Amino acid sequence: MLSELNKLNQEIISCRKCERLVAWREEVARVKRKAYKDQEYWGKPVPGFGDSNARVLIVGLAPGAHGSNRTGRAFTGDASGGFLYPALYRAGFANQPSAESRNDGLILKDLYIAASARCVPPDNKPTPEELNNCQPYLERELEILKPKVIVCLGRIAFERVLKMYSIRNSKIKFAHGALYKLNPEHWLLCSYHPSQQNTLTGKLTVKMFDEIWTTAKELIQDE
Ligand code: SF4
Repeated sequence: MLSELNKLNQEIISCRKCERLVAWREEVARVKRKAYKDQEYWGKPVPGFGDSNARVLIVGLAPGAHGSNRTGRAFTGDASGGFLYPALYRAGFANQPSAESRNDGLILKDLYIAASARCVPPDNKPTPEELNNCQPYLERELEILKPKVIVCLGRIAFERVLKMYSIRNSKIKFAHGALYKLNPEHWLLCSYHPSQQNTLTGKLTVKMFDEIWTTAKELIQDE
């Protein structure tokens, strides 16, 4: 499994399918944010990260311009990760609460992080075509990992997962904490995305987020 994921991640890193996103990720990496002007930005697609035996798969939106597009690892080096990793640590999915660089010693246990798009999009908005271009990578991660629980962070990730499973049921709606059985083997658990837009406004609180990871734990323990 590990070698299959490594092979897939090499493919992801060298992908240039979306012209607009290739130009944007490289532009952000060239211009940089003032605070990081002395750092070399990753500026490439951000591969999946985590435990190759994971039973829980996170599907996020896309890399942050000065977070994972800078550091090269999912949710690393920005405020979203600063909210996500402490929660994963409290739930026992991570060995430490902080995520600053690819070499910071962070190890995930029973959890893997993927995304709907692997390249940073302008205004955090990938187009439907870009999401379609990137979907095969997520499909392959699902094939390799066969996770029991998929946690989608935000509506775009939720809609992408429904599309992948060809689910068109108007009763299945995105809501924080909503839980659906995708098929006999897979659960889909919905959460608001831990972006600052949600966490600073109180739309997503620490307690609400902790409840997501407690539920994910219970679902894998119930096996
Ligand atoms: S978003 Fe996905 S498909 Fe598009 S260039 Fe990046 S890795 Fe490739």
